[in-house]
Amino acid sequence: MQPWDLSAQLDEIKQQQLYRSRQVIEGPQGARVQIAGQSYDNFSSNDYLGLANHPKIVAAFKAAADDYGVGSGSAHLICGHSHQHHALEEELAEFTGRERALVFSTGYMANLGVISALVTKGDEVLQDKLNHASLIDGGLISGAKFRRYPHANLARLEQLLQQSSAAKKLIVSDGVFSMDGDQADIKTLAALAEKSGSMLMIDDAHGVGVLGKTGAGIVQQQGLSQQQVPILMATLGKSLGTAGAFIAGSNELIEILIQRARSYIYSTAMPAALMAATRVSLQLCQQETWRREKLVTLIAQFRRGAEQLGLNLMPSDTPIQPVILGSNQAVMLASERLRKNNILVGAIRHPTVPKNTERLRITLSASHTEKQVEHLLLALEDCRVD
Ligand code: PMP
Repeated sequence: MQPWDLSAQLDEIKQQQLYRSRQVIEGPQGARVQIAGQSYDNFSSNDYLGLANHPKIVAAFKAAADDYGVGSGSAHLICGHSHQHHALEEELAEFTGRERALVFSTGYMANLGVISALVTKGDEVLQDKLNHASLIDGGLISGAKFRRYPHANLARLEQLLQQSSAAKKLIVSDGVFSMDGDQADIKTLAALAEKSGSMLMIDDAHGVGVLGKTGAGIVQQQGLSQQQVPILMATLGKSLGTAGAFIAGSNELIEILIQRARSYIYSTAMPAALMAATRVSLQLCQQETWRREKLVTLIAQFRRGAEQLGLNLMPSDTPIQPVILGSNQAVMLASERLRKNNILVGAIRHPTVPKNTERLRITLSASHTEKQVEHLLLALEDCRVD
């Protein structure tokens, strides 16, 4: 193949059943979405609490656009950091029980920024193999020695920590794993970090909103302090229904990030109106506990029904409910069949997940009805690979 023969490369991607394409959504996110004039039950988004199109959040967004305009004008360190950004950061710190928080424009940027601000050549980053791509990429661009341990294998992590001669070690893990839905054993991670003098970072993009009494995520659910989990990251574009991300931790951590996180320093701040909207969604997330309760009910309903059908589930009690089908072809076929039944699910293929674990990534939302879950189960019956 010629080095710049892009069409040959595209053909190769197609042959491997790895071709990705986008579907164009008409109208808002929700439990039902519209594509090409057709309505679908949506079991593929990360809008776990059903807040992405909440009228109070939309109203806050509109009102703040009147007050602040649309563009933020520049990066935070120039003149893009408004009262709305500042107030949201204070509220996020309080929400997570941390000293301070810092908002980033995306979770991807937050993860790249934090890891590369804290470690470099001569240091070591240790990560779960199933961590999100942005954590892996952050580890790679940092220049630190990069070690990965098999998923959830903390005995192996302990060995790697013992073998390490690096003075600065950073342990990084998803809180809730994005493709599997299971939770990291963050208590043991915190104990290992303490014992080895390492720093611990937890990316709780999929736990915030869903876990813990007020939705403050896995650290709230497990009762871990800032000292035990010094670097907490979460996104705003999933349960909180808007966009962006934040890091929460000590005053010194946040100050270091302001000085050194390149993806923070060299990028335009998010619109102030988005911050105002997120402040409202943060309130709703904390106050409307029925959303988490509803999720628990729907997750139980789904798992019960899927087990009766003999589907290959994973040990997840979060809204992420993968159904393993085991090949790219099977996944594409099943998602196509579901689509014919007006159901959208995530078709997750290798290399996003390990070979032979290709899956449907079904996600539940507080905005789904029990009837919709019933309809999904009926349609899944057709997709069984016996
Ligand atoms: N971390 C995890 C665990 C994620 O699932 C994601 C996004 N899907 C990110 C980070 C990146 O966040 P964002 O989409 O805001 O860039």
